[in-house]
Amino acid sequence: MYEPFHRKYRPKTFSAILGQDNIVITLKNALKFNRVAHAYLFCGSRGTGKTTLARLFAKALNCLELSPDQEPCNTCISCVQMNEGRALDVIEIDGASNRGIDDIRQINETVSYVTSSSKYKIYIIDEVHMLTKEAFNALLKTLEEPPENVKFFFATTEPHKILPTIISRCQRFDLNRIPSDQICKKLKTIAGKLNLSIQDEVYELIAAVAEGGLRDAESLLDQLICYSSGPITYENVSQILGLSPRSYFFKLDRAIHEQQLSFAFELAKEIFSTGKDLVCFIDSLMEHFRIHLLYKLNIPICSYLSEEDRSSYLETSSLYTQEQCLANLDFLMQWSKDLSRIPFKRISLEMILLHLIRSKHKISLPTLVRRLEELSSGQIAPSLPPQQLFEASPPIKMKEAPLQIPETLPEKVSEAIEPPAKIAEKPREQKSENAVSSPPGRHEVLLRFASVELEGTLIKE
Ligand SMILES: [Zn+2]
Repeated sequence: MYEPFHRKYRPKTFSAILGQDNIVITLKNALKFNRVAHAYLFCGSRGTGKTTLARLFAKALNCLELSPDQEPCNTCISCVQMNEGRALDVIEIDGASNRGIDDIRQINETVSYVTSSSKYKIYIIDEVHMLTKEAFNALLKTLEEPPENVKFFFATTEPHKILPTIISRCQRFDLNRIPSDQICKKLKTIAGKLNLSIQDEVYELIAAVAEGGLRDAESLLDQLICYSSGPITYENVSQILGLSPRSYFFKLDRAIHEQQLSFAFELAKEIFSTGKDLVCFIDSLMEHFRIHLLYKLNIPICSYLSEEDRSSYLETSSLYTQEQCLANLDFLMQWSKDLSRIPFKRISLEMILLHLIRSKHKISLPTLVRRLEELSSGQIAPSLPPQQLFEASPPIKMKEAPLQIPETLPEKVSEAIEPPAKIAEKPREQKSENAVSSPPGRHEVLLRFASVELEGTLIKE
C-alpha cells in the first residue's frame, strides 16, 4: 500500500527527530524526573515536526518499557498501537475542522472518563489557533485543572492567534526550521533505502525550496520519483518546481552589461511562451541577484549550485557592483509585492527587465546626495572608483567646456578617498586655486549626476 514518505519515514524515537535538540532534551528530562506538565504548546512553521513531537511524547508517556534514556520501546502493546494509529487513549483532533464550542464541550464531557488501558489520556489538538474564542474559553477551565492522568498537546503554526490565557497555561516550545544539511541527510537515507540514483545538488535544491520544512522536502522527493524513471537530475526538479533555467539569468547579466534593451522583449516572450509563473520567475531572479551579492561579499555560496553554474556566477558577478545588486534586489522586492494583482503581466515583465537592463548607469539617490554634498563643500575628490564614474559609463556629449575631472583624478582608488582632516588642513590659497580651475567641471558633474538619476541612462555619443 502506498504511504507518503513523511508518514513512512516518520521518526519513531526522539533520537530520530531532526533539528530540535533542546526541545527533545527538555521533554526527556520531564519524563526522567517525572515532571510532565498537563499542557504543552508546540509552535513552528509547517513540516518542522510539531505533531510528530507531540505523538512521540505521547507514545513515550504511555510506553510500558521506556528505555533508560527515555526512548519509547516501540515493542510494547501501547507503542505498537500508537505506531499503527489505533491508540484509544491518544485522541487526535484537527482544530481546523473541530473549532466550535460544541467540539470542545465534547472534550470537557469525556475528559474525566477512565482510560482504556494506558496510563495517560492525551488530547493532541492540531492547528489549535483555528479554535474560536468561545471554544478557547470553554477549554480554559479544563486546561487549568485537568484530571491527573489527562494531558493536552497543542500544535500550531500561528501562536499569536491563541489567547494569552491559553498560552500561559501551557509549556511552550518553538520549533526551529530544520537545517538544510540535516534535511539532505534524511533525503539521502530515504534514497539509499530505495536504491535511487539522485544527483547531489538535487538534495540541496530540495532542501532550499523546502525552507526548513522536512515534510515539504519529503513530499517533493516522493513526487520526483514518480516523475522520473531514471536518475533524478537537477533539471527534473527545476521542471517540477517550474523554475526558470539559470541560463536565462546569465544571458540577462550579459544583456545588462551590453545595454541590449531588445533582450527584455525576447526573454519576456520566452517566459510567457513556456508558461512560467511570473511570481516564481521574479523570485528566482531575486535569488539570482542575491547570489551575485554573496559573490561580491565573499560569503560562502549555497551548495545547490552545480559546478557549471558556479563558474558562470564567478564570471558574471564581476559585471556588477555591490550597489547595483542591492538596487536590483530592492527594485524586484517592490515589484514582487504587487505582481499578483497586476492585470498586464507581460508588459509588466518587459518593464521590469528593461529597467534592470538600464540599471547599469543608474546612480542611487544617496550616492547622488553624497556627491552633491561633497561638491558643495568644495571637496572634489570622487568617492566612487574612477572607472565606475567614467569608464563604465559611455562618454557624454557636451557642447561647451569638456569635463575637467578625469585629469584631476588620482590614479588609485585609495588616494581618491582623502581623510576629511587632511582636506581641512589644506591652505586656503590652494583651495581657492582649485576652485578657480574647476568650476565648469563641477557644474557638468552636477548636471551629469542629475541626468543619470532622472533619466536612468547616459546619452551615448
Ligand atoms: Zn513501549
